[in-house]
Amino acid sequence: MSVPLQAPLRQYQQFATEIDTAVQSALSSGRWLFGTSVDQFEKSFAAYCRVPFVITVANGTDALEISLIAAGAKGREVITVANAGGYTTTACRIIGAIPVYVDIDPETLLMSPQHALAAVTKDTAALVVTHLYGRMADVEAFRTGLAAMGREDVVIIEDCAQAHGALLNGKRAGSCGDLATFSFYPTKNLGAMGDGGAIACHAPDIAAKIRALSQYGWSQRYCSTVAHGRNSRMDEIQAAILLSKLPHLDDWNERRRQIVQRYRAAASAAFNCWNTDSPAFVAHLAVCRHRQRDHIRAVLSEAGVATDVHYPTLDCDQPSQQGLPMVVHDLHESRAASREIFTLPCFPEMTEDEVSLVVSALQSNG
Ligand SMILES: *Cc1c(COP(=O)(O)O)cnc(C)c1O
Repeated sequence: MSVPLQAPLRQYQQFATEIDTAVQSALSSGRWLFGTSVDQFEKSFAAYCRVPFVITVANGTDALEISLIAAGAKGREVITVANAGGYTTTACRIIGAIPVYVDIDPETLLMSPQHALAAVTKDTAALVVTHLYGRMADVEAFRTGLAAMGREDVVIIEDCAQAHGALLNGKRAGSCGDLATFSFYPTKNLGAMGDGGAIACHAPDIAAKIRALSQYGWSQRYCSTVAHGRNSRMDEIQAAILLSKLPHLDDWNERRRQIVQRYRAAASAAFNCWNTDSPAFVAHLAVCRHRQRDHIRAVLSEAGVATDVHYPTLDCDQPSQQGLPMVVHDLHESRAASREIFTLPCFPEMTEDEVSLVVSALQSNG
């Protein structure tokens, strides 16, 4: 037996009847954009996230790009981390914002509030906090720190692409920042069958601006009033699929957490699996850390356990970024982690046998 890192087909097989029905009705509605499914999904997902407004877009990177434009970040500085897969960097480059990389907290691998606040300058427009691996960062710490500096103007954007449904101090991921972005890439905790994304926000005027930015800058049909608009939208088929999946999200997240708990209990201290079992962690990825990372991965592979590294290269070290404007603060924790982390299989449809195989491979090594 071998255990894959991801197996999204299984979720479709398990819910094929519901999903086929949803797709069929989206097709026969004859409205494949701007129909009832998109509208209903936006409302349902907003209610689930406990935010007043959700605007769907084409993918999670567009959600970041449009949020940064809405935050006025064009040509200005955006504080981010270098260990979160490059999505914020991509969005910054598209709009000509300057990424400012700050180090992570070695315990959580999330952005360190202390380092982020120290990197704020007069040019800072926004701060993107990524809830990496499904672990929710304490957004309040950033907000309080910015307020103490008199910098409430810095827009806080939560990147929730790995954290659908996470709950910290009674607040959902996506409800704490000024803006929040989601991706529904197929392997995310809530996944479409194709691309999808969304932006959550609190203020009606900001919601209207984001809606306009996602459609040519239109405030009404053929009347473009918001600068730097583009076209980015979710189609009815993806929205119908997401609507049918949303009621299962909490169960899936619980199953993911259980799997990570099994790994934590099995792994020796050398593995340093720091993920918590609180609802603030939705176990998007089961990431471990080990000094002999490459050796351990080879041994696990021999045992039939697929692994990966999220992510092997810091954003500022990517070949595409060389020579482009950026500010790189001391990143020694980010660098150390990128050499030692690896990811174990973790998805809700894993069988007990598969979980057990990973557990015994962890127990016999390390
Ligand atoms: C997946 C992901 C994105 C981008 O999502 P796409 O839909 O693939 O554009 C952004 N941020 C994070 C943290 C992600 O994991």
